[in-house]
Formats: sequence, C-alpha cells, structure tokens
Amino acid sequence: MKTLVINCGSSSLKYQLIDMNTEESLVQGLVERIGIEGSKLTQKVEGREKYVLEKEMSNHKVAIKYVLEALIDKEQGVINSMDEISAVGHRVVHGGEKYSQSVLIDEEVLQSIKDCIPLAPLHNPPNIIGIEACKELMPNTPMVAVFDTAFHQTMPKKAYICPLPYELYEEYGIRKYGFHGTSHKYVSNKVAEVLNKDIKDLKIITCHLGNGCSLAAIKNGKSIDTSMGFTPLAGVMMGTRSGNIDPSVINFLIEEQGYTIKEVDNILNKESGILGISGISSDFRDVCQEAEKGNERAKLALDIFHYKVKGQIASYAGLMGGVDVIVFTAGIGENSSLTRTECLKGLEFLGFSIDEEKNTVRGEIQEISTEDSKIKVYEIPTNEELMIARDTVALL
Ligand code: ADP
Repeated sequence: MKTLVINCGSSSLKYQLIDMNTEESLVQGLVERIGIEGSKLTQKVEGREKYVLEKEMSNHKVAIKYVLEALIDKEQGVINSMDEISAVGHRVVHGGEKYSQSVLIDEEVLQSIKDCIPLAPLHNPPNIIGIEACKELMPNTPMVAVFDTAFHQTMPKKAYICPLPYELYEEYGIRKYGFHGTSHKYVSNKVAEVLNKDIKDLKIITCHLGNGCSLAAIKNGKSIDTSMGFTPLAGVMMGTRSGNIDPSVINFLIEEQGYTIKEVDNILNKESGILGISGISSDFRDVCQEAEKGNERAKLALDIFHYKVKGQIASYAGLMGGVDVIVFTAGIGENSSLTRTECLKGLEFLGFSIDEEKNTVRGEIQEISTEDSKIKVYEIPTNEELMIARDTVALL
C-alpha cells in the first residue's frame, strides 16, 4: 500500500511516496516557484542521482501533474502506474475547532477547510488548491486531511482562551489553536516507544525548533498547552518571526512612527527573530558561524533565542507539575548541540543531567541525558510525512 503525502505552500509543493507496508519513504520531492518564472521539480530516490525537471508550472495542478509523471516515469519513477497510489494525505494547516483528528476529505470537509481561510489566509488556500488539483487528477483515490492544529484540540479552556473580551472568541474564533501538531504528536509518541513506556504515563515537553519554532506540553499523551497561538506568529522567537511581544508595540509603530499595518505585519513575520536581531540571516547555521567569529549581534540573537526556549521549557515543567521527558526536534533541535545545551543550562534543578558527548550526535534518535538522569532528554528527528501517511492509512 503506497501513500502519497502532499504539503502545498503558496508557491511550493513538497511530496513523498511512502510504502506503508514497510513505512519506507520511496521518493522525496520538492516543486519550487510554482506560478513564478523558473519552476523546478527536484526528486530524490535513494541510491540514484537527483532528478531535476525545469519546466513552466503555471499553477499547482500543473505541478502535481508533473509530480505524478515523475513518480511513474520509467527511468526516474518508482511505480508503474498511478493505480499503485492507494491514497493521498494532505497537510492542512488550519482545521479550526472542528477537527481534532484527521479526516477523509469530502465536499463538506473541503468547505470546512475553506471556512478556516480567515484563520490562516496564507496557508489554507494553497492547501485547498493542492487538494482540488489532486481530486481532479486522481478522482477515484481517497484523500485525507491532516491538520497542524488537530493535536492541540485537547488543550483545556484555561490554556486556549485569550484574556480578551470573551465575545471575541465567540464571534470571531479568536483563541489559541497551536500548530506543528503533527510533529509534536509524532515525536512524543516516538519517544514513548523508544523508552518502552505508555505515553499515558508520561509528562513530555516537545521543542520543535526549525524556521518556525513551537513547544508543547504533553500530559498523558494529550497536548495541554503549546506556544504558538491564534497564528504561528506567537510563542518563542523564530527565524524571522518575533514570537510574543507586547502588543502595544504595534500601535506605537503605526500611530507614533507612521508605519502601515502591512509594514508592521511584515516586520513581525518576516524581519524579526533571529534575522531581525542578528541583522545577518534567519538561517541558524549562518548566525552560529558569525557568533563564533565574535559578532556581537549574532551572539545576542542566539542568547535571546535560547533564553526564550528555556523560559518556555521551565514554564511547561511548572504547569504540568514536573516533566519526565524533554524532546528536541526539527532543523535546529535535531542538529544544534549548542542549542540543546544552552536551552537546558540552569534547568538541571528539574532533575536531569546531560551527557555532553552524546549531545554531539546530530540528526538521529539519541538520548542526550546521562544514564542515571531522572528526567530523560532526547533528540528525535521529526517525520510529519510519515505521521500524515499513518493517519491516512488508518482512515481507510
Ligand atoms: P522548517 O521549519 O522550514 O521545516 P527546518 O526544520 O528544516 O525548518 O529547520 C531549519 C533551521 O534548522 C534553519 O535555521 C537551519 O539553519 C537550522 N539547521 C539545519 N541544520 C543545522 C545544523 N547542523 N546546526 C544548526 N542549525 C541547523
């Protein structure tokens, strides 16, 4: 049984074909610059040279058509015909309050995803375009929507209601939703499996630190709080996003300094965080390199990043009345031993100790706490695509 996983962005599309009998990823691909000059499809199959196709792809439907062709291509492909694809799992960013689980896509579900567009105006539209294009090209193949928000629907009201007039929640749905749910769910379940423990007996803090960053407090297998909020702008500092700041800054910039709302929105989403403070890059590796050379702003960016994540870990340990496992994942979390060390430094009183040698391991499942550590600390590579494929198969 082979499942195609599709993750559609506004001008890009990531895909994987996963053999669900073995959970092996057969193909990983990326289409970039959809609808822009210079469209490009890159497909990777283990043991083969990268396949690159540069052709005009004016929209997502054209892009998906090329993806399907690449999958069944005699030389570059891995399957003989599209009939071998038994289902398609789509990443959908926002499922609002309606979806606490993945769901088979029918007309009603598609409409509900459309109804969530105001909550995720940048993300849900390309997700919908991806679903509609696949439906047109593969009308008989079942499709499943897997929502970034779903895992966090278990949060209690005290965690998700914003301290604003309650009517704003009732009328407009303004509340904390949380994101990266598929990743938090995957790594928390994986660490429980690695520890050979029932997730229902564990208090876990998961730190998803990539370009976007969020943490989740997971008690008895359920997300009870998470750092992103109404949108993925909230929480800890990120590559280009500010995370939490005093909201009055927005008014100050507009009323006193003459910025437009659009400019402020752009600053908060695209010019802040690691990029904004360092003035160098949003890419963590670049900033680490500059910090090593002594660049003060680069050092400050790293300091603030680690300080914010550390504060969030401490807060979740407190809110859960303790913690059994801390997990680091995503680009920075899986690779940066510096980040893991700095985010944990000073929190040893919680009851862990770090094995600095194990902590140098990158990008694989690795315990980084010492053997006698009461609290376990792990790096676990995330695998949102596999989680999407698993949910897809489970729904069939
Ligand atoms: P996305 O949120 O786009 O999926 P990723 O999870 O791929 O992002 O994370 C990207 C971030 O991970 C970038 O800031 C990148 O610099 C950082 N990163 C990747 N490899 C390393 C590494 N070896 N050391 C430190 N940071 C790394």
